[in-house]
Amino acid sequence: VKTAPVLPEKATHQQTRTFNQQLVLRAAYDHSPTSRADIARLTGLTRTSVSDLVGQLIDDGLVEETGRGSSTGGKAPIMLSFVPDGRHVIGLDLGEGTFSGALVNLRGEVLRSLRRPLDDRDGEDALELVHELVDALRADSQRPLLGVGIGAPGLIDTSTGTVRWAAHLDWSRLRLGPLVETRHQLPVVVANDSQSAALAELTFFRRPRPQNLIVVRVGRGIGAGIIVNRQLFQGDGFGAGEIGHVACGGERRCGCGNIGCLETVASVDSMIRLAAEADPSISDADRLASAFRADSEPATSIAAAGGRELGRAIGGLIGALNIQHVLIVGEAAYLGRKWLEIVQQSARESALPMLARDTTIDFGHPQNDVELGASALLMNAQLGLSLAR
Ligand SMILES: [Zn+2]
Repeated sequence: VKTAPVLPEKATHQQTRTFNQQLVLRAAYDHSPTSRADIARLTGLTRTSVSDLVGQLIDDGLVEETGRGSSTGGKAPIMLSFVPDGRHVIGLDLGEGTFSGALVNLRGEVLRSLRRPLDDRDGEDALELVHELVDALRADSQRPLLGVGIGAPGLIDTSTGTVRWAAHLDWSRLRLGPLVETRHQLPVVVANDSQSAALAELTFFRRPRPQNLIVVRVGRGIGAGIIVNRQLFQGDGFGAGEIGHVACGGERRCGCGNIGCLETVASVDSMIRLAAEADPSISDADRLASAFRADSEPATSIAAAGGRELGRAIGGLIGALNIQHVLIVGEAAYLGRKWLEIVQQSARESALPMLARDTTIDFGHPQNDVELGASALLMNAQLGLSLAR
């Protein structure tokens, strides 16, 4: 991922400048309003460098002077604020059944959103729908556009913007990023939906930002986005966190071809399908959740069983990674705290007690979605806002 600014050992003057510029911008982003002296203290750069770099950021419209702060004896410092609308970003969610997009500012505030049903489109037609969404959202932006972030289910090579495999769209080895980049002449990044969700939490919703974080997305499918040392961890083949296809002992065949994947019992779609076999009125996540909350069978047993299997998988992640912050996002959050407690209990029983005790498992931010996460990835690629250097 070209997200994190890493300063090479023999950096050119320009690389050093870009690196320092991102340090200053990140300090303004996280500590706004702040002063030049505070930024110097936070970044370790000299006052002269900071003044020079802040001047550039003011010219770029990303930082502005907002009056004087309180004096600590001498002259009151001029305060600097990050400008949320200094750039706008387009975030897309290429979900199953529906493509949606949002125009967001650099604080993750959604200014406009659009949804388009996929209506059986796949291949080239689905790609055309991506272009339509970009055009429509772009027409609404009054600010300079930073670029387009795209989140999609499946295996995504973020380094080249290639969708390696997205079954529902009939896309295989599609160079989505470069295609959208060429057509719209904007920077583009592509990530999978769970990884996007993890970036949204890290960038917009978690303060202080954790160093390490697991975000498990439970909706139509199940996947985890893993942040290690403030970097998106993708593994050797971009499939890190694909826990939805780890077998958990069931007998149902999964869309991936294997039998007994976690998704077949614990994804929201599977829980709805299983409950509907006995009670056809359970047709969506809301109905499943209200039946579960009302202790009505079979929804209660099915959701509880799904929660227990999910908890086991999370216990496995805790044991493998010892990451102490785990968040669950997606439609499963409709099931509420009672269901979350089942997941927590099961995860505790499936990991070393000493590790489990220090780990919190909670729901993520209710506004976390793929569009925001994809936007966050683009912001990090272009401005280095929240990932580590
Ligand atoms: Zn599977």
